[in-house]
Amino acid sequence: MVISVTKHKTEYVVMGGTFDPVHNGHIQSAQALAKFMGYAHVYMMPCGDAYHKQGVSPAQHRLAMLHEALDNQRVLQIDPRETQRKGATYTVETLQQLRDELGVGAHICWILGTDAAKGLTLWQDWQQVFELANVIVINRAGEALPDQVSQSWPAKQEYDVEKFKQRASGCFMQLALEPVAVSSTEIRQALHKQESVGHHVPQAVMNYIELHGLFKGKN
Ligand code: ATP
Repeated sequence: MVISVTKHKTEYVVMGGTFDPVHNGHIQSAQALAKFMGYAHVYMMPCGDAYHKQGVSPAQHRLAMLHEALDNQRVLQIDPRETQRKGATYTVETLQQLRDELGVGAHICWILGTDAAKGLTLWQDWQQVFELANVIVINRAGEALPDQVSQSWPAKQEYDVEKFKQRASGCFMQLALEPVAVSSTEIRQALHKQESVGHHVPQAVMNYIELHGLFKGKN
């Protein structure tokens, strides 16, 4: 079932990702961002076919792990729409769908860590991202976005939270949140070596990983 965004919503904030698996870096960063920005919700949106990565777990497992992680969450919600679309997942298609659902005036915001933001210009029709939405870059591991990257974006940098939230699209902000030094790659590598990752991954997600025997042969 595709979540249908009702017209009265005036903001929609998304953390897209592979979430293979979801970890505390995603969760704590999204929570801190929502608090800092005063957003009611952040929607965690697992991609469907991750055409840019090799050997990714099936979407149904990545989605189920998000449900395990966010079971009692009020602020962090899940939007599964990309896992229900056939073919490669292109963010610009998702944003067009959200814009069509929400209308021209709604504040739409896509969250990226620094690493993902550095690769944005490789995305399909990447310039259109800024026609359809705003972007927040979280300084991952304390690393700010290099100026030469943000200068190539057809977007205005905004520093004021309230002004940013009034913009439907075309702006970006950078946030230096408390860094949470963990990646899904490190977790998969640790699991492959049968090392503990418990402090970086919610227990319910660890239980799911064990139950389904995920990441045994992968790093
Ligand atoms: P992988 O190691 O498999 O590439 P990942 O840990 O980067 O995975 P993704 O699901 O690809 O996780 O990330 C989704 C989004 O969350 C990206 O924008 C990424 O930059 C961001 N992100 C991931 N981990 C962190 C973290 N520890 N702190 C802040 N942002 C993060």
